Amino acid sequence: MRTPGLPLALGPSWTALVVAGGLAVLAAPVCTLLVPAVMPGSLLAQLGYLISVGFSAVFLCVAAFRVPREHRRPWTILMWMMVLSLVAETWTAVLEIRGDEQWPTGADVLFIAGYVMMGCAVMALVRQRNDRPAFGSLLDAGIVTTGVGVLALVFVIGPAAADSTQSVAARVVGSAYPLIDVLITFLVARILIGSRRDSALWWVAAGLVASLVADTLQNVMVLTSSSAQSPSYMNLLWAFYYATLGLAAVFARSGSGAPAEPQPQTGLTMLRLVVLAVGAATPAIVQVVLAALGRPENGAQLGAGSLLLLVMVLARIWDLLHQVREQSDQMAEMARTDPLTGVANRRSWDFELERARVASARMGAVLLVALLDLDHFKKYNDEHGHQAGDDLLRQAAQAWSRRVEPGGLIARWGGEEFAVALHSADRARGLQMVHALRELVPYGQTCSIGVAEWDGTEDMVTLLKRADDALYQAKRSGRDRVVPAAADAGRHTRASA
Ligand code: GH3
Ligand code: MG
Ligand code: MG
Repeated sequence: MRTPGLPLALGPSWTALVVAGGLAVLAAPVCTLLVPAVMPGSLLAQLGYLISVGFSAVFLCVAAFRVPREHRRPWTILMWMMVLSLVAETWTAVLEIRGDEQWPTGADVLFIAGYVMMGCAVMALVRQRNDRPAFGSLLDAGIVTTGVGVLALVFVIGPAAADSTQSVAARVVGSAYPLIDVLITFLVARILIGSRRDSALWWVAAGLVASLVADTLQNVMVLTSSSAQSPSYMNLLWAFYYATLGLAAVFARSGSGAPAEPQPQTGLTMLRLVVLAVGAATPAIVQVVLAALGRPENGAQLGAGSLLLLVMVLARIWDLLHQVREQSDQMAEMARTDPLTGVANRRSWDFELERARVASARMGAVLLVALLDLDHFKKYNDEHGHQAGDDLLRQAAQAWSRRVEPGGLIARWGGEEFAVALHSADRARGLQMVHALRELVPYGQTCSIGVAEWDGTEDMVTLLKRADDALYQAKRSGRDRVVPAAADAGRHTRASA
């Protein structure tokens, strides 16, 4: 039991971790390379490899128990996977020592089950570190995997499954291993493409790559020679694979859960594009190479692989287009809107006012343009602070906007000044609305308004100039009032507060 209050880093489990980890890391090259080199063919080579895997298993178990309980589930799965693998490695070693060449054995079933568990654990680790799988990134991982899968299908899985000289069990297991390599490719792609990664995931990825390299080498060896005996340096790769899982668990302790960095975007980088292009082109390249070698077989598999990849690439293009469309909509919205108040900005006002003018001419409705300016806003800022000033601007803009829209138009003209355009069946009702706006300023504050009516011929610059002059008059004559523009004066009775 750890003494309460003792720093975690000094507890007994930490010592055990350092010892187990150090031994696992050291045991791997010593037991898998050095011992067989010094004593070739001796029992010690097998034993050494098992010892190295055993240390890694202990290392992983100790490290996994230090991961906070809420993040521990994937590490627990990996622990059981390690136990299965250790049993399977021992089983295989015993058979090898006894000279038993029977294949496949129960150990293979354990290995395969272990890989499936490892797949589940890695997917859970990726999920822990990422909010939700981005469709684009999943597709990218799928495209790379399908490319590799087609290669595996044509050169390894297909031949292994169709080998009539082998027993059914040998054919099933023989094709299951390369299928698992395809699964590992997917896991590596899932980690490397569009995932948030911490040190734990980097170590997992390194281990997966080591196991993939070892497996591919083994497959190439089986394909190019009749020997299925693996050279000792391959055991080093396997040992590295087991040790990295323990290392990953150590790093998971310090930074479990989602790392601080943002989840990568699903856009295309140059590197990603090249990787995707190679993945997508794989079936076609294989077909061309086979045809050049005078072996036009596997046409159906390669064609099916090409079609599947075509569908995935199309889905990826669609996803990218969707992203671009969403981003451009967001940009357009940002370009139209004043960030503080959420109402239209001046750029959008100029455009919308022209539309309002055209609509007014078409409908024969009255078009009123009002400029609203908060009174003594500088003083309000000085007395209550800039934040409170911002809040007043926001609240006033929202109150006006609720009253004006739909049908009308409101924009932030600049600073504490807003512009409003209104259609109205008659002038009196339009002016009534403008008066109502004056009363909506919150926190006991007031505003002055200059309002001008479009004469049906003048341009909008002139109309706004008249409204601005009227606003100036409203300020000069005491504020907190509505003043119609000069040319309108004959058309309506003077409106005041
Ligand atoms: P008047 O009654 O004559 O309109 O006086 P005023 O104080 O309202 O007008 P003035 O033009 O003297 O000052 C406007 C102030 O508005 C000055 C500026 O600091 C403030 N202001 C402009 N934009 C913002 C903003 O986005 N947020 C805040 N808090 N203040 C702003
Ligand atoms: Mg003002
Ligand atoms: Mg002003």
